[in-house]
Amino acid sequence: MLKLHPSLPALPLKPSAWDWLHRYGVTVVVHDPNSTRGGGYWHPDRRLVELFTAQEEAAIHELAHAWWHERRLLGRNAAELMVACVNLSEERDPRYARAAELANHYVYGITSQSDPQSPTGWWMGMLVGSSGGYDWEVFAGLASGVMGNLALLPPYIRRFYEGLFDESRE
Ligand SMILES: [Zn+2]
Repeated sequence: MLKLHPSLPALPLKPSAWDWLHRYGVTVVVHDPNSTRGGGYWHPDRRLVELFTAQEEAAIHELAHAWWHERRLLGRNAAELMVACVNLSEERDPRYARAAELANHYVYGITSQSDPQSPTGWWMGMLVGSSGGYDWEVFAGLASGVMGNLALLPPYIRRFYEGLFDESRE
């Protein structure tokens, strides 16, 4: 666990990952350290992680975006993550139930969740919906969905996160 900003709780990032992000030029701002309501943005043009509050989940999510921003372009990483997400949606091992449920939503969408951008009126997910092809949201969504805990991800998807998150989370 790593304390990388005075307003944030310790995060499950590897020290080497934070070193890399730092060298890459990533800075973190936290607008309201007294709130944990969440929300934030990754601004690639400024290499800025902007966090509205000190919420751990949002910090993990936006830092994951920063980490994946260029790694998605290495080899076939972006497509391989999407294939792994489809595999994860079929995962039946109860240890990975939370991640599998998220992957199911990313692949098939959520029929009960309305989406005015969508031709069906419901959110069609991140493969074929109006947010289709969003491997970067799959990456950051799974990261914050398991709060950076690699033990909650099966090996075929854990591999994408191994450089970023610490194996010994506690
Ligand atoms: Zn995001």
